[in-house]
Amino acid sequence: MSKEIPYKIYLEESEMPKYWYNVRADMKVKPAPLLNPETLKPMTAEELGVVFCDELVKQELDDTTREYPIPQEILDFYKMYRPSPLVRAYCLEKKLNTPAKIYYKFEGNNTSGSHKLNSAIAQAYYAKKQGLKGVTTETGAGQWGTALSMACSYFDLDCNVYMVKVSYEQKPFRREVMRTYGASVTPSPSMTTNVGRKINEEFPGTGGSLGCAISEAVESATSKEGYRYVLGSVLNQVLLHQSVIGMECKIAMDKYGIKPDMIIGCAGGGSNLGGLISPFMGEKLRGEKDYQFIAVEPASCPSLTRGKYAYDFCDTGKVCPLCKMYTLGSGFIPSSSHAGGLRYHGMNSVLSELYDQGLMEARSVEQTSVFAAAQEFARVEGILPAPESSHAIRVAIDEALKCKETGEEKTILFGLTGTGYFDLYAYAKFNDGVMGDYIPTDEELQKGFASLPDLKI
Ligand SMILES: *Cc1c(COP(=O)(O)O)cnc(C)c1O
Repeated sequence: MSKEIPYKIYLEESEMPKYWYNVRADMKVKPAPLLNPETLKPMTAEELGVVFCDELVKQELDDTTREYPIPQEILDFYKMYRPSPLVRAYCLEKKLNTPAKIYYKFEGNNTSGSHKLNSAIAQAYYAKKQGLKGVTTETGAGQWGTALSMACSYFDLDCNVYMVKVSYEQKPFRREVMRTYGASVTPSPSMTTNVGRKINEEFPGTGGSLGCAISEAVESATSKEGYRYVLGSVLNQVLLHQSVIGMECKIAMDKYGIKPDMIIGCAGGGSNLGGLISPFMGEKLRGEKDYQFIAVEPASCPSLTRGKYAYDFCDTGKVCPLCKMYTLGSGFIPSSSHAGGLRYHGMNSVLSELYDQGLMEARSVEQTSVFAAAQEFARVEGILPAPESSHAIRVAIDEALKCKETGEEKTILFGLTGTGYFDLYAYAKFNDGVMGDYIPTDEELQKGFASLPDLKI
């Protein structure tokens, strides 16, 4: 007999995960290696070490170590806000009148308001351990910059954030949270780097872009003694750290004898979804259990559902290594969307490979339907979800409604990555009925694909 399932499932301190799980160890076909854009040879640890911290480079390149023990200092920090609650969405089930059982893992219970802190603290820890003075990064909507500034202040590291200029001006509150944690926040393009000065000269008055901010952050890290660059998603090391989400879920569900039939998550760069599904995907890869995995992306930036699986630049400035991934092309410029965290042109290489092998599905959803799901969820479950997270809510609700038609009692688990308190302009547009949907035409996508490098390999 299974125990009665509480509204919120927590873990005891003794039950908490002690290691991150590296799903690459169980993949028969590994994700393709990062390539040096000049030589087209796999990036070496030495080359990557110029930009990234040594231990993080090791994690990035490691396709074989299954378990990475989480260092005690990081476990101690996790205790402040983990375990994150695994919630049985009884109220949502009732509202939908569905026989499906719905669970969500809520990562918004910390000041950064999202899952990004799980990796920020790990990256700051390794930078500190290496004896560095500080780190540089870029931020678009601001969630990653906020998480990183919290992590850096904890380890007393200098934190330089290049924030896309339009966001810097439109989201002054996020900027102030970062400054409160001691980070310096520079609107990008700035006059503090060569690439920033060049872009300012070419495009006076530009509001900047994520690609440009990445290039500035990388230049700034590599030109200053004792600094490295850090990134909040897309990379395999980030997915590894985010596996703590899936590990906690798995332990909690096993404790109550619950087996999800499907696991759903939103996909920007892929780290939260990859982290959530990792231990479950491991079971599937080892032939122990089967699950349905669904990645949800915005119809305005459909890298999995309409992208190409190819080597591409990770950034618009083309300073980073080449990565094989599902991509819309680094030249693809998504229309402005209210899910800023899902606007990246590519997808993490592990998820790309799993998707290519048919082990994971993907769906794209339109913005207004996402906000309708967010509203429905907020009204019964009490949490104001981030627009990014609401992509997963949309598909979870759709699947629960299908169960209502068929009478199937499926168990659905989805990742609720964060809260939406800094997205109230977007909610206002939705509430005023003036929010639009944008789906790029095939012709527009073609322009992005034309920017893919022609590698002849
Ligand atoms: C950044 C962010 C995402 C996107 O996460 P990825 O791991 O890059 O897919 C989703 N939700 C929230 C709340 C975010 O801040």
